[in-house]
Amino acid sequence: MSDQHWSKTRAGSNEEALAYLRDRSQKPGVAEGGAARNMYCPSCQGVVPLSYDSSQAPTGEEKRCPHCDVLLDERVMEMFNWVEIDQVPGSDAKVVLPILALALALVLGLAWWLLTLFG
Ligand SMILES: [Zn+2]
Repeated sequence: MSDQHWSKTRAGSNEEALAYLRDRSQKPGVAEGGAARNMYCPSCQGVVPLSYDSSQAPTGEEKRCPHCDVLLDERVMEMFNWVEIDQVPGSDAKVVLPILALALALVLGLAWWLLTLFG
């Protein structure tokens, strides 16, 4: 192997990142082999069993940490070495519906006013 091979030219770099990953590999829920999908509580770093369908919007169901009882944000999941905050957002229909209803009422009111004016 040449001295220019990446494994030799990069030797000793990224030690901080490698130490972080080695440390995370010893965390509960990972050190045992990580058969079940887990996440970590952002408050106490306890293992929280995880089961969700990432293609579905959050249900709004309240979920608490089994270790410290802190309320967990269902859209934020601390995983092995990353934090997921990009879950599918819920529907905007509840926000848009009153605006659409008001716009429809205005259009109908305008139509009724024009009919009474010229009819
Ligand atoms: Zn906790």
